[in-house]
Amino acid sequence: MTGPESEGSLVRRAVCPGSFDPITNGHLDIISRASRLYDEVYVAVMINKAKKGLFEVDERLDLIRQVTAEYENVRIEAFHGLLVDFCKQRDIPAIVKGLRAVSDFDYELQMAQMNNGLSGVETLFVPTNPTYSFLSSSLVKEVATWGGDVSHLVPPVVLEALNKRLRRD
Ligand code: ADP
Repeated sequence: MTGPESEGSLVRRAVCPGSFDPITNGHLDIISRASRLYDEVYVAVMINKAKKGLFEVDERLDLIRQVTAEYENVRIEAFHGLLVDFCKQRDIPAIVKGLRAVSDFDYELQMAQMNNGLSGVETLFVPTNPTYSFLSSSLVKEVATWGGDVSHLVPPVVLEALNKRLRRD
C-alpha cells in the first residue's frame, strides 16, 4: 500500500518504561540506543502511587526532558496503569529494556511474557553497557544520601537536583 494511510503504520515506535527516580546514565544509555533503532521512542514514567519517590513525577519528567533534549525522536510521558495499555493507546509494538545482570532476568522474563500474553507487545532486551551494569536509581540515592560521589553515574543536572534535594549544595 502507498499513500498517507500506510505511512502511519511504517513508523517504528518503542517505549522505555521505568520509575526514573531519578534518571541515571544507565537509563540514558538505553534511551539513546533505542532512539537509534526506532523512529519514535517514548520514555514512560510509570506512576506508582504506593511508592513515594525522592522526586515528584513532574520533577522526574523535567529532568528526563533536559537530558534527552538532543534526541529529537524521544517523547516523555507519565503514565498510571498497565504498560500494555500505554502501548495500545499509542500504537507501540515494542518495549525496550536494559538487562544489567542475570539477577534482572527472572523478573524481566516474567514481565515480558505477561505483557506479550496480555496484548502481543514484544519486549526487546538490550545488554547494559558494562560501565553501568551495577547502576540503579536506588543505589545512586543511597550513595548520594551518605555523601558519596555519584557525579560519574548521573548527568550534571540530575546531580544538581540530587544535591539540592539532599540539601548538600
Ligand atoms: P524500575 O521501576 O523498573 O526499577 P528503573 O527506573 O530503575 O525502573 O529502570 C527502568 C528500566 O531502565 C529498567 O527496567 C532497565 O530496563 C533500565 N535500566 C535501569 N538501570 C539501568 C542500567 N544501569 N543500565 C541499563 N539499563 C538500565
